[in-house]
Amino acid sequence: MDFHKKHIVFESIRQQVEQAFLASGSELAGLRELARETADAVEALSPVIERHTSAVCPDCMRVCCVNRHSYHELGDILYLYSLGERPPDYRKDIRDAEPCQFLGERGCRLMRSLRPHRCNWFFCAPLLDRIQSLPAREYRAFIAGLEEINRKRERLITAFGDIMRKGPAIPGI
Ligand code: SF4
Ligand code: SF4
Repeated sequence: MDFHKKHIVFESIRQQVEQAFLASGSELAGLRELARETADAVEALSPVIERHTSAVCPDCMRVCCVNRHSYHELGDILYLYSLGERPPDYRKDIRDAEPCQFLGERGCRLMRSLRPHRCNWFFCAPLLDRIQSLPAREYRAFIAGLEEINRKRERLITAFGDIMRKGPAIPGI
């Protein structure tokens, strides 16, 4: 998608979600707990992931954090507003193929629970190899943690859809 059009589409979606949260107040506020549980589950896995990224990423020749991955998608935006957060302000002067605008010297500058879901769900081959070499019990716990995050996120998105279907129509949602 054209660079500027992408920003316009993103901003339109963000505003519609924000409007939905403003219009549906208390009902959507009920999603806060589910979003908090999702965030906690993401942060709980973070030390394990960081243990492995700190081993494989410093020598990486094809860093995966390019700017096209920096944008939150609809499910992320719903989750962020449910959490009482909002997507970051994106810079409009960075092209898709350039290093991600949130990439700092010590990795991603966003808290893991505020990153796009695709970032937390991406495991390159060297990273996956390392994680798969964990002791069986630890590996199973890690996979269970990932599955739990996905389940909670899906529940949140479904709950949002259910509330929207019952409530006042929000254009575009
Ligand atoms: S996750 Fe994989 S592809 Fe991305 S920077 Fe680390 S080693 Fe490189
Ligand atoms: S993990 Fe952070 S730095 Fe990497 S692409 Fe995602 S938002 Fe950007």
